[in-house]
Amino acid sequence: MSRNYTISATVAWFLFDTQCPALDTRRMPLPPDYHMHTPLCRHATGEPAEYARRAVELGLTEIGFSDHAPMRRDNFDGWRMNFSQLDEYVEDIRRTQKDFPRLTIRLALEVDYLPGQEDWIRELAARHHWDYFIGSVHYVSDSWAVDDPQKLSEWKNRDAFEVWTIYFERLTRAAETCLFEIIGHADLPKKFGRRPPRDCAPLYEKFLDAAKKSGSAIELNTAGLRKDCREIYPSREILRLAFEKGVPVTFGSDAHAPGEVGMNFAEAVRLARGTGYRECCRFARRKREWFSF
Ligand SMILES: [Zn+2]
Ligand SMILES: [Zn+2]
Repeated sequence: MSRNYTISATVAWFLFDTQCPALDTRRMPLPPDYHMHTPLCRHATGEPAEYARRAVELGLTEIGFSDHAPMRRDNFDGWRMNFSQLDEYVEDIRRTQKDFPRLTIRLALEVDYLPGQEDWIRELAARHHWDYFIGSVHYVSDSWAVDDPQKLSEWKNRDAFEVWTIYFERLTRAAETCLFEIIGHADLPKKFGRRPPRDCAPLYEKFLDAAKKSGSAIELNTAGLRKDCREIYPSREILRLAFEKGVPVTFGSDAHAPGEVGMNFAEAVRLARGTGYRECCRFARRKREWFSF
């Protein structure tokens, strides 16, 4: 990757990860955790201050709350805040920023991308001074979110390659909209361990070309390590292609509880460095900066 940039963060904190003994002797700067939730989404526990406290304990210098954004229709599903709670969410995060003045805390949303939602996403973007949006695809149809454990039986009727194809087509469209600084957990359909027995590289290439063109980053999301797939999202294969194409990265734990903040970041940093990455993105008021790790 070649590019001109300035490092605006002074990296003063280092990670000592007891979850990965092989890394005990290495001192590594801990990248910002840009993917964490709040109880407003109805399936996370712990107040934002507890997440922030955990981040400080770990030596993180920067985090970002990116809770599940409301849909235009409040009863779209059962795992996001209602639109009427959006201002409350922003107030919660602003209060946490005041309570932790030495920790940089970003205000963000994880926004579901479904085709046709573009205007709604623009309306959300205009409502507050967000630092970034994570664009995520969970839904491969209007009613099936591939990561929903309640809908696990759907997989029985589906060909995995067909699911991968629809998923990556949507992810590609998400990147093409230029509505998102970050594209979330890029190979989420592997969550339950089902994978197509076919080469998916053409799907990945098309998505990553769109991400490169739009300037979107992709996130290394460590939640996959806590799921049946036992692997960071995205796979090493996708990350390698991303590096070759010059697509930048961010890091996220996808924490739904304070104890998950920064979880397995040593492994994520090792994966990123092993692929060639030495820096990740930071965002302030939707402008990109860089952080070396
Ligand atoms: Zn969630
Ligand atoms: Zn997600």
